[in-house]
Amino acid sequence: MIEPTRAAALAHLADFTPRMGRDYAAGRNADPGPGARTAVTELSPHIRHRLITEEEVVRACLARHSPTAALKFVQEMFWRTYWKGYLELRPQMWTDYKGWVARVDPAVAADAMAGRTGIACFDAWVAELKTQGYLHNHARMWFASIWIFTLRLPWVLGAEFFLAHLKDGDAASNTLSWRWVAGIQTPGRNYLARAENIARYTDGRFHPVGELDEHAAPLTEPGPPPPGMLPPADPAPTGRVALLLHEDDLSFWPSGCDVVGVGGLCFPAERSIFAASPVARDFTIGALADGLRGATARIGGEPVRLELEDVGAWARGLGVRDVVMPWSPVGWTANMLQGAELDGVRLHRVRREWDSVCWPQARAGFFGMAKKIPFLLERFRLTETTQGALPL
Ligand SMILES: Cc1cc2nc3c(=O)[nH]c(=O)nc-3n(C[C@H](O)[C@H](O)[C@H](O)COP(=O)(O)OP(=O)(O)OC[C@H]3O[C@@H](n4cnc5c(N)ncnc54)[C@H](O)[C@@H]3O)c2cc1C
Repeated sequence: MIEPTRAAALAHLADFTPRMGRDYAAGRNADPGPGARTAVTELSPHIRHRLITEEEVVRACLARHSPTAALKFVQEMFWRTYWKGYLELRPQMWTDYKGWVARVDPAVAADAMAGRTGIACFDAWVAELKTQGYLHNHARMWFASIWIFTLRLPWVLGAEFFLAHLKDGDAASNTLSWRWVAGIQTPGRNYLARAENIARYTDGRFHPVGELDEHAAPLTEPGPPPPGMLPPADPAPTGRVALLLHEDDLSFWPSGCDVVGVGGLCFPAERSIFAASPVARDFTIGALADGLRGATARIGGEPVRLELEDVGAWARGLGVRDVVMPWSPVGWTANMLQGAELDGVRLHRVRREWDSVCWPQARAGFFGMAKKIPFLLERFRLTETTQGALPL
């Protein structure tokens, strides 16, 4: 369990960086179980809340490893950026997903969510998810596949169950990964969990032979809509401003303005129809507190955790009319902020350059973005000579 602080994330990053090269590529698919994982970072909750950024993690990796050795790790980091961009260019997918969630009866998944299916691996992952707020990537794939194709439960309920419990619960990575397993993100191609594969990559901890539907057909829902344009962000204002942090980006600091106060918002209850589990909620609240401490340390004073309806009065109390905040990508925070009444205070939503440059690359499949990774790395000066050096 890595504490929900930037300092803990940076310390873990430093410790893990030597393993980001060929060791990661060789070991990342195996899940030896809680407490025994050394091949993956388990930093996704910190990255999702941006206690540390994708750019910082990729920079640390490439400072230590050659582009060839770093290839797999860098690609996995870009999967996150890709999913974020994909949903940002197609916000309707989130609206449609939430609409469907509202129409299903959660009771149909009661046994699965209680870990009472009789499939030992699945029931163990339910317990791990609830107590740790984390599952290994391969376990997430097996879990989602069993949920959809063996238990025949609505995928949107499984996705909501994940959002409620994962400390890294994220609108884009989660929704689109569930769609990918179901065979509706890349229509016609589903991911089927197989007993032999589970036994092999769990070091024999589980072997659900004869218990899984290993031949199910993909779901047949409409595929993704075509991409739109990235919505415009605001330029950072100049002059005196208040900084409003939220759970999508807790290490943001605006340039070119004079920050006179720091406040923070988070909406854990809005994560899913099951709200947020205590583990996920406590992580987010802890991360927000740490982000607020970090920002306040730059200017002095006391950070404030705010309710949305208090933002206007808070800003006016600081003597400012301009509130600057990091961009909130498609998800529950953006939903809450949409159309919020802020009592005459102007809200400036500023997007990081990483997002503005990378997200528009998510127009089609991941391969299209992967081809551009060398140029993106160069663009952000993460390597000096990447062009053509990554064998993509
Ligand atoms: C059904 C399903 C649901 C998922 N839901 C989420 C979610 O809500 N939030 C979330 O952050 N990830 C989600 N993922 C992606 C992935 O499983 C996790 O990001 C990863 O397991 C985190 O563990 P780690 O930090 O040890 O990863 P590492 O292997 O150490 O990877 C380093 C970082 O790269 C990024 N990353 C790695 N793999 C992926 C991937 N496949 N997709 C997106 N980013 C990736 C993460 O930020 C991760 O922290 C989901 C995957 C599946 C199959």
